[in-house]
Amino acid sequence: MDPVFSPPLHRQRHQFVIDFVKRNKPKKVVDLGCSECNLLQKLKFHREIELLVGVDINGANIKKKMHGLAPMSTDYLQPSFDQLRIELYQGSVTQEDARLRGFDLVTSIELIEHLPLADVERFSKVVFGYMTPVAVIVSTPNFEFNHLFHQPAGFRHSDHKFEWTRAEFKSWALKVCLEYGYAVEFTGVGQAPPGQQERVGFCSQIGVFRRLEGRQNGNMSFGDDAEDVFQYTLLYSINYPSLHNNNILQRVLVSEVLYWAEKMKRNWIEEKTGERDDTYALCRAEWEGEECLGASEQHMEMEDKQTAACGAEMKNPGEHQESELFWTNGERQQESLRLHRCVSVPLAVLWSCCPKLSALSGSLSNLRHILMNDPEVKLSHDGSAVLLNDQEQDLEEEEEDHDDLEDSGYPICSHSVETEEDWEKNV
Ligand code: SAH
Repeated sequence: MDPVFSPPLHRQRHQFVIDFVKRNKPKKVVDLGCSECNLLQKLKFHREIELLVGVDINGANIKKKMHGLAPMSTDYLQPSFDQLRIELYQGSVTQEDARLRGFDLVTSIELIEHLPLADVERFSKVVFGYMTPVAVIVSTPNFEFNHLFHQPAGFRHSDHKFEWTRAEFKSWALKVCLEYGYAVEFTGVGQAPPGQQERVGFCSQIGVFRRLEGRQNGNMSFGDDAEDVFQYTLLYSINYPSLHNNNILQRVLVSEVLYWAEKMKRNWIEEKTGERDDTYALCRAEWEGEECLGASEQHMEMEDKQTAACGAEMKNPGEHQESELFWTNGERQQESLRLHRCVSVPLAVLWSCCPKLSALSGSLSNLRHILMNDPEVKLSHDGSAVLLNDQEQDLEEEEEDHDDLEDSGYPICSHSVETEEDWEKNV
């Protein structure tokens, strides 16, 4: 009976790479001979990676599943500060391309045996001599293991040009190390049955190459002044949403501010009318308690004078107004000259109730600055509070809009359709 691997051998090979990534945390990774991008699919979840690239000579294979590498909706809804760009190229590992230099890790999983021996020489020169990555993982079938498969003599796949014994693989690997300044360790995946491991080795043999100190800008055969070459064809590229992108950071902050401000407004109104909400009661209790005053003092140290005033307001909300949320009657809507009643929610209150705001904006004055430039947020004249229309007025306006629509003869839709956001803008 043929040896059966659990997990399957292809998964063990990919898991080997993932374990290496977890231990070594490379920022730039390229998978050569990426085929249908299965390894890249797994690597994209390791967000210490900032640039993930796949290369294959077969563009049709890449295209089969490349859209599966796109960000998921959660990546857009809850972006992190991690940055990830994915690029897929059609190209041959026997040709140089300047975009593949300077990587931390190159993987070549079950690729070299598909190359004629003359191309293996070119592969060595391109990968170790031109790309000069910090580390390279090469896996290839171990010919010695084949006799455990009860199949006719020959190679494991019709497209294989060779399958090396451990000695042949070792001889190629050591020559590469000598020529291009690398050290190699040999290992593998796919254990032989008990008692036979020593004799036949692993089913897939693996060499882990590490560039020797002082050889980082080796490029012995190409030289630093060599013209940059771009021989590969870019098939796909995507930037994952990241809070390092100012547009995305601003959108997340604004939606967080509006969510909390609206929540506080509603709770305050309910409180006024006798229906209290626990969340707000809790938030307010914390805010008025010792612990939170301590936190607001810390904030005050960090902030400018204007913010300090906000902090004072937080400590003694009663001195200046009836409650921390208050009505303002002075906001005049320019176009209609109609008197608006607003609910004012101090930024400092939002800041202390929503830890995410401080984590994302760093300082209250920073938050104020970001909100000042956003058309969705209305701030008080001194910028210390978010102004929201009062609820009754919202309802009145909704009814008016509804009436206008009915008058206009347009069909009325109960939900709004927003234009698609350009998340990639100004990356
Ligand atoms: N690495 C993948 C697939 C290995 S199959 C995995 O782990 O599952 C070998 C892949 O190498 C194929 O997709 C084939 O198209 C690709 N390949 C063959 N010759 C190549 C070359 N010269 N340059 C780049 N890719 C090549």
